[in-house]
Amino acid sequence: MFPFQINVVSLPVKHNFRHIKVREIALFEGPQGWSEFAPFTEYNHKESATWLKAALEAAITPAPKQIRGDISVNATLPNVKVDQVGKLLAGFNGCTTVKVKVNDFVHDHLLLQEVSRHIPRVKFRLDVNGGWSLEEAIANLRNYLQEFPGQIDYVEQPCSDIADLKLLRQSVNIQIAVDESIRKFLGSDLTKLREVADVAIIKWAPSGGFSASLELIEKIQLPVVVSSALDSSVGISHGLSLAAAVPNLYGACGLATTALLDADVTSKPLVAENGSIKNRKVIPDLLEQFKAAPTRQEWWQNRVNEIYEQVLI
Ligand SMILES: [Mg+2]
Repeated sequence: MFPFQINVVSLPVKHNFRHIKVREIALFEGPQGWSEFAPFTEYNHKESATWLKAALEAAITPAPKQIRGDISVNATLPNVKVDQVGKLLAGFNGCTTVKVKVNDFVHDHLLLQEVSRHIPRVKFRLDVNGGWSLEEAIANLRNYLQEFPGQIDYVEQPCSDIADLKLLRQSVNIQIAVDESIRKFLGSDLTKLREVADVAIIKWAPSGGFSASLELIEKIQLPVVVSSALDSSVGISHGLSLAAAVPNLYGACGLATTALLDADVTSKPLVAENGSIKNRKVIPDLLEQFKAAPTRQEWWQNRVNEIYEQVLI
């Protein structure tokens, strides 16, 4: 049996991010404070076990040595309609770097233009989630670079195949960040990513927690952007603790994402202020208010128990 009592919440999501309307999160309190376990519901036990390892570590073990205080953060914009951009950006106070989920140039350059209207000297990070072939990546990125000269910070996982990333890098003058290439290949030799990418995206929970992430970062030896996975402020606080401990942080981190939720587990959420977030321990004082239905509590309790017993111990 999982050793801590879990509290499952169901938080409404603002804009159908990842095509979900509510974000279910299991929270529990350990000797070091609150932690959260929230792999997406379709994830299998093996993949989710990495998230549980992270959650347990944060509840039981002190956070790694912090080498910086405030963490600068980027805004995160889902692939929304142009008329929703202003309202969403308002949740990311002072952020001048905006990560945008893009599919292609033809439709999505309008999104970027709208962002520029709100933040004139914006830097963009384009997240493709591995969705382009090499040819599509070359064509789309040439268009983006031409339309927004000097404004594209990097493109995140333009293609899923590492060989394609390598060829892309030889064809287009743009920085490449890898996300899925790390997350989906945790057990393999990731040192070769240095040949195909400029930035490593590291997420606290999917990487297996503080020490696993720091080990990974040391192995990959690329500048790091710590990002999140639609966490509540509790998960974000652990992402911030990780970012505060990373020696080679690249720049703004993707940790302002509580702005994509319509509610949080705390009345004092961790949100961007002047483009950064100051880390602190989070007490989830709104657990009762957003408590999930009994059937969902039971589903998560079973999930946690099974993963704990079958995979972790
Ligand atoms: Mg990504």
